[in-house]
Amino acid sequence: MTRIAFIGLGNMGGGMAARQVVGGREVRAFDLSEAAVKKVVAAGAFEAGSIARAVEQADAVITMLPAGPQVRKVYDEHILLHAPKSALLIDCSTIDVDSARAVAAQAKAAGFRFADAPVSGGTAAADAGTLAFMVGCAESDFADVEEVLKPMARAVIRAGESGAGQAAKICNNMLLAITMIGTCEAFALAEKLGLEAGRFSEIASKSSGQCWSLTTYAPWPGVGPQTPSDRNYEGGFATAMMLKDLKLAQEAAARAGATTPLGNQAEATYALFDRLGFGGKDFSGILQLLRGNLAALKA
Ligand code: NAD
Repeated sequence: MTRIAFIGLGNMGGGMAARQVVGGREVRAFDLSEAAVKKVVAAGAFEAGSIARAVEQADAVITMLPAGPQVRKVYDEHILLHAPKSALLIDCSTIDVDSARAVAAQAKAAGFRFADAPVSGGTAAADAGTLAFMVGCAESDFADVEEVLKPMARAVIRAGESGAGQAAKICNNMLLAITMIGTCEAFALAEKLGLEAGRFSEIASKSSGQCWSLTTYAPWPGVGPQTPSDRNYEGGFATAMMLKDLKLAQEAAARAGATTPLGNQAEATYALFDRLGFGGKDFSGILQLLRGNLAALKA
């Protein structure tokens, strides 16, 4: 049986680790949060107690951590010291391209194979095993990476060499932030014009305004499939995480000389929402800022 070490069992990692169990893998799990560990143990994973114990006999190590600093630290201080050299190392967190390339170089120098493989799809897709993975790795490693990711995936696509998965991810998330804000603005305007939200959604979903933020992740409660908007924007993809991705996109754009005015505006809008104290709410909660109804979020 394939032995998977899974580090980082939060909103995303918890569901992903459980999908590895469903896929027949032996999962040794670790997170700093005991509550997060308990959840995946209930799903059939083994509690490792430390990163060293989780990785020591692993065929593959998967990390799903908040950002670059945590990934660098976990690899530098734990994984690279304790995993067997045969283990395939896959980081699924969304982090800056430079950190991804630095960790890849460090792993390679230590004799490991490494892939950056950030995901798209949100917590529902993590729970259902229908995430899209964007992979940066050597072409010769891709088949093995795909095999490890399979129980968690609807699609696994190689973007290029190390760092390319993260590049694809920040471009995707910049687009997502822009379409989410656009969708929320349209709902807010529709409301002011006296249109019922469900009816507007039905029409736009079948018209040229159709997009993922509208049909799969509707920000308006009670419209479309179940989303964080139906639980007062709890869980899902935190605003602080989206803001992190938008900052990464803007930093990358500045370095690469790309012109991204809407990405810039999306970052400013999410920064305001975060400053107002809603960094822990799902990013679709920005609807309530745009409706001028922040009180709804505090209810
Ligand atoms: P989260 O904060 O819910 O989970 C992160 C987990 O990492 C936490 O449980 C935390 O305790 C753990 N952690 C932090 N430092 C650690 C360490 N040193 N050792 C062990 N565990 C540690 O975040 P999330 O929403 O699951 O997101 C994880 C990553 O996935 C982020 O990079 C995020 O940008 C990306 N992402 C999230 C979503 C989403 O919808 N939530 C979607 C796509 C990508």
